[in-house]
Amino acid sequence: MAYSRSHFLRLFKNPTRILGFSNVRNFSVTSQHLAPDARVGFIGLGNMGGPMATNLIKKGHSVVAYDINTESMEALEDAGAVIASSPAEVAGKADSIISMLPNSQHVRNCYTGEKGVFEAIQPGTLILDSSTIDPSVSKEMAALASKKGAVFMDSPVSGGVNAAKGATLTFMVGGDEKEFEAAKALLECMGKNIVYCGGVGNGQAAKICNNMLLAITMIGTSETMNLGMRLGLDPKLLASIINTSSGRCWSSELYNPVPGVLENVPSSNNYEGGFGTALMAKDLGLAQDAATKSLTPTPFGSLAHQIYRIMCSTDLAGKDFSSVFRFIKGNEEE
Ligand code: NAD
Repeated sequence: MAYSRSHFLRLFKNPTRILGFSNVRNFSVTSQHLAPDARVGFIGLGNMGGPMATNLIKKGHSVVAYDINTESMEALEDAGAVIASSPAEVAGKADSIISMLPNSQHVRNCYTGEKGVFEAIQPGTLILDSSTIDPSVSKEMAALASKKGAVFMDSPVSGGVNAAKGATLTFMVGGDEKEFEAAKALLECMGKNIVYCGGVGNGQAAKICNNMLLAITMIGTSETMNLGMRLGLDPKLLASIINTSSGRCWSSELYNPVPGVLENVPSSNNYEGGFGTALMAKDLGLAQDAATKSLTPTPFGSLAHQIYRIMCSTDLAGKDFSSVFRFIKGNEEE
């Protein structure tokens, strides 16, 4: 059998292939993924994935990309990526794969479905799934990847579309610690805080805990601001008092839900852009599933989940999650 130069390079980059091991758990894939000619596969080029993949290209990586939406693929092709026709084709061409998909079911389909990643994954491939999904699905994918000699880590993100564009995301990484340096080297092209959280699924655990608290503080900020305004307080004055007092939180200070209190936040742009109500409802559902499985009482998380689910059946479903202020306030003039 004749080997091409690229095949030889791939073998050289990954000694486990030369040695013929089918299970590479005892080897770090770091050297392979730090190789200058390593190719990165990117699957899911939406609001977050599009700018993240673009940043990888800007940092000099060769990217092979796939999305079910052809317009998103064309945009990334213009930015310099090679386009694939399926997740399997990405897997066949890439040394590492990053996925940024909406939910657990999309991730399952993309990895285990027909023409999915696991049909063509190569031993030694590093997989980083940055979607926010059920931690148990991350564990399931990691076990399947391991059977193929690949390494799966969960790496969900905090920070919205602007952080994705500006490469300032926080990544919460779960998986084998030996592989963290390789993961970090790639994730640093898209983020500024790369945090190792422990075993696979722990990145998702950190993410859904953070988002449960975020939803609770956003609802609390919204009802507080609404009460103050109904008592006759100017919203900017009230926000400035809260933000120098013990009620201060990220939702009040940096993402205030009342239109006009802050510039450049979704509330001042008719709640457009940002982090959608439907995605917040999904994350709260993940937190509730995890709370049920671990027998953990989360009364405010549960109530927040119900509030966001009700919002999903209104015209606020497609708006930013800070539109919970509008939901609480009702239809009075703002
Ligand atoms: P999005 O809906 O904008 O993008 C998802 C992309 O995945 C779309 O382009 C869609 O076409 C593609 N896709 C769906 N199924 C696919 C498949 N089988 N194969 C290939 N592509 C497929 O979502 P987003 O806002 O980019 O969010 C992605 C993930 O990041 C979600 O899990 C979300 O919870 C999380 N997240 C989002 C934000 C945010 O502010 N938007 C912030 C933090 C985390």
